[in-house]
Amino acid sequence: MSTKGEYLLLASIHDVSPRFESEVDGLMDLLAPHVGERLAMLVVPNHWGDAPIVPGSPFATRLRRWADSGIEIFLHGYFHRDQARHEATADRLRARFMTAGEGEFLGLSRDEASARIAKGRALVEEVIGRPVDGFVAPAWLYGEGALSALADSAIPLAEDHWRVWSPRSGDRLASGPVITWASRTRARLASSLLAAAALRRAPIDVLRIGVHPPDGRHPALVRSIDKTFTIARKRRRAGRYSDLLHA
Ligand SMILES: [Zn+2]
Repeated sequence: MSTKGEYLLLASIHDVSPRFESEVDGLMDLLAPHVGERLAMLVVPNHWGDAPIVPGSPFATRLRRWADSGIEIFLHGYFHRDQARHEATADRLRARFMTAGEGEFLGLSRDEASARIAKGRALVEEVIGRPVDGFVAPAWLYGEGALSALADSAIPLAEDHWRVWSPRSGDRLASGPVITWASRTRARLASSLLAAAALRRAPIDVLRIGVHPPDGRHPALVRSIDKTFTIARKRRRAGRYSDLLHA
C-alpha cells in the first residue's frame, strides 16, 4: 500500500489530439463513471505532423477547459511518429515490432529531444495556461537522449511501462506495469485482454490504466476496460499523478 495507506488508481487517455477528438470523447464517457475528472490526458502537439493543436482553435479551447476541470495534462512526444534512424539494431527492432514506428523519442539525440520537449511544452502551456503535469514518451520508449533531455527539463513526472519517476531527482515514485490494451492484431488484442484480467486484481500499490483512441472501436476492449475500472475501483482511490509527488 502507498505511504498514505491506500491503493491508488491512475487513469490516462493517450494520444489526445485533434485527430482523435471524437475517440477521446468516447473514452471520456467510458471512464467518467469510474474516475470523473481524475485522469491524465497525454497530449500530442502535432500528431504525425498533420494534426497540429492550434492556439485559439475549438480543440485548444476544449483542452483548456479539460485542464481547468482538474484533468492533468501531460506532454506526449511532439509528432508521436518515429522519424529517426536508430543506430542500434536492438532499438530498431524494438521500434519496429513493438510500436509500428510510434517510438518518437527512442532514437532522438539529446539536443533534438530537448528541442521537441521545449517546443511542445511551450505550445501546450500556452493553450492550457498552466505548466504541464508530466511527460510520457510515445509508446513509453525513451532513448538515452530523451532521458538526458528530460532530466534537464523542469517537468515533474515521467512514466514508462514499468514505473513513474521524477526526471530531475531520478527518484522512483511508483512501480508496476501499466494496464493497457492493443488492437493492431487479433493476437495482441487477445493477449491484452488476458493481461488486463490478471493485473486488475493484482496487489500493486499504484495501478496505472492507460487507454488509447482505437480501443473504443472494439467492443471486447470496451467491455474489458469497463470491467477493469469497476474491479480496480472497488479497492482503490482514483487519484492524480501529482499525488505521487506529495505522498
Ligand atoms: Zn501514444
